[in-house]
Amino acid sequence: MIKTDILIIGAGPTGLFTVFEAGLLKLKCHLIDALPQPGGQCSEIYPKKPIYDIPGFPEVLAGDLTNNLLEQGKQFEPGFTLGERAETIEKQEDGSFIVTTNKGTKHQAPVVAIAGGLGSFEPRKPAIEGIADYEDKGVEYIIKDPEFYRDKRVVISGGGDSALDWSIFLADVASEVTLIHRRNEFRGALDSVEKVGELTKLGKINLITPAEVKELHGNGKIEAVTVVKDGEASQIATDHFIPLFGLSPKLGPIANWGLEIEKNAIKVDNSLNYQTNIPGIFAIGDVNTYPEKLKLILCGFHEATLMCQAAYRIINPGKKYVLKYTTVSGIDGFDGSRKEAPKAVVQAIN
Ligand SMILES: Cc1cc2nc3c(=O)[nH]c(=O)nc-3n(C[C@H](O)[C@H](O)[C@H](O)COP(=O)(O)OP(=O)(O)OC[C@H]3O[C@@H](n4cnc5c(N)ncnc54)[C@H](O)[C@@H]3O)c2cc1C
Repeated sequence: MIKTDILIIGAGPTGLFTVFEAGLLKLKCHLIDALPQPGGQCSEIYPKKPIYDIPGFPEVLAGDLTNNLLEQGKQFEPGFTLGERAETIEKQEDGSFIVTTNKGTKHQAPVVAIAGGLGSFEPRKPAIEGIADYEDKGVEYIIKDPEFYRDKRVVISGGGDSALDWSIFLADVASEVTLIHRRNEFRGALDSVEKVGELTKLGKINLITPAEVKELHGNGKIEAVTVVKDGEASQIATDHFIPLFGLSPKLGPIANWGLEIEKNAIKVDNSLNYQTNIPGIFAIGDVNTYPEKLKLILCGFHEATLMCQAAYRIINPGKKYVLKYTTVSGIDGFDGSRKEAPKAVVQAIN
């Protein structure tokens, strides 16, 4: 059982900034995310795009914003459960909550902050008969750790950036990489398409287009796929089949937690602290709704800040928190580090 003060569901920008604001109040956070990496939409959908409306940053790449948020929160030592989806929530007699993921990992906290954005990103799965039987037995829809494929044979299918980028990356890791796409044209960055072309010429990628994987074969584990090109079927022996057809967001299991939902978002009290209809459960960032709601990163940051104050009062009943500027009080990390502004040197004027 992982225990923490604030359990954050969603490691997008809102969830990551919560770690920092909670840390200032000496509250510890643990984050769960269905994706294998933190950053939410910023790292999954547009890591290389510049954002122009983050206060104080005239321009920042979404991927860099994610890295900065991780760096800013690092001293407060957040825990992460990545690549797992929060599935169920149970209220305990002491008022705390236990959240269990689809992989069975259990987390307990007195406060739960849902920062689930558009919902958990579910992989789009190809319509191949029996594919579910091979999931985690050679069929993976998300690459969590490329080392997992070292010296293995992999067949990747898809025509977007993920399929291209991972084919390029795994060309140096796997023993054999086959990339299959149903069209001759790819939807990814031009330099990635060119790189795949170069690696194909070097014999490091086996590119098959226009073609589709139609059948899977194996005994308890994937052993081969049937590929159809120009109406002709052939078998390719492989250890892994990785369809990378993109991810689609779904509010998912959170929709069944007894929370008030409106237009696929969680209703909160924005006149106070973004609490949901269940005391102790808050919803912040893109996942919530209230009159005049704007789905912007800076709004998520503001909501996270006010939510942490409410969490402090739940966790420390009767204790008063006095707001201090970080410039004045400095920051004491949970890792023993201390950051503070240099003390002003006052010089006497003769
Ligand atoms: C192309 C594009 C450009 C954009 N440009 C801008 C811009 O210029 N400025 C701006 O302010 N905003 C912009 N946005 C919007 C911005 O990205 C979002 O407002 C922001 O990402 C919301 O952050 P969040 O942390 O609330 O949610 P998200 O970033 O959506 O993160 C939510 C996370 O929660 C996880 N999650 C959800 N449910 C579960 C579950 N049950 N279990 C585990 N994990 C779960 C998801 O996997 C996801 O990682 C843009 C969005 C897109 C798509």
